[in-house]
Amino acid sequence: MRLALFGPPGAGKGTQSLLLKEQFGLDVISTGNLIRTAIRNGTPLGRQVEAHVHAGGLVPDELVRDLANEAIAAHAFDNFILDGYPRTTRQARWLTSFLEAYKAPLEAVIFLKVSDEAIVERLSNRRIHQQTGESYHLILHPPPAHVDPRLIVQRADDAPESVLSRLETYRKETQPVEAYFREAGLLLEIEGEGTVQDIYARIGTHIEQLAELQAA
Ligand code: AMP
Repeated sequence: MRLALFGPPGAGKGTQSLLLKEQFGLDVISTGNLIRTAIRNGTPLGRQVEAHVHAGGLVPDELVRDLANEAIAAHAFDNFILDGYPRTTRQARWLTSFLEAYKAPLEAVIFLKVSDEAIVERLSNRRIHQQTGESYHLILHPPPAHVDPRLIVQRADDAPESVLSRLETYRKETQPVEAYFREAGLLLEIEGEGTVQDIYARIGTHIEQLAELQAA
């Protein structure tokens, strides 16, 4: 199965993609995680993109396309879920033709709809594990007691001033991707508010149907 998860920052893409991974055995390709790893390791790419990411902007299309294409090819063009890619219509068009060339089109794009208030609340309470990338919510899903608190950090781009520019970037650059995939007949609109389990139940039923259709 080939899926993409789409939605504003803090929509729950990372959390839901891990649940899809558990249930359907899909590999998660998160361009955000690939980029954060490159920054942490101080690679040439990491140094090139660091300022964009911390300011809440997008990484240039060409760079993120190469990262994503490489990861998709490494997964043999199947059994993956894209988390946070594509984020511009240019990326979406490139992705479509890249996958078409390998006869491996996307089967669905899950769009998580979340209000601005919920986004700000979620991102200000989000903390991540510096080494594993695991995501926590200080109130709803706090880090367990056995985890060294020094490893629990706030993402630089979750600081309040970055959150506002990420929302603006989302509106300007990423929102048009919704119409692109709707026209392509791939968009699955999911109400992205509620508990993690509620949201997953909404997604899971659609994906189960898709899996059954494929198996038939
Ligand atoms: P995320 O973890 O998905 O929120 O991504 C963190 C940051 O990485 C974003 O705010 C962007 O700066 C960058 N990034 C991740 N994916 C993309 C993408 N598809 N296009 C451009 N920038 C991206």
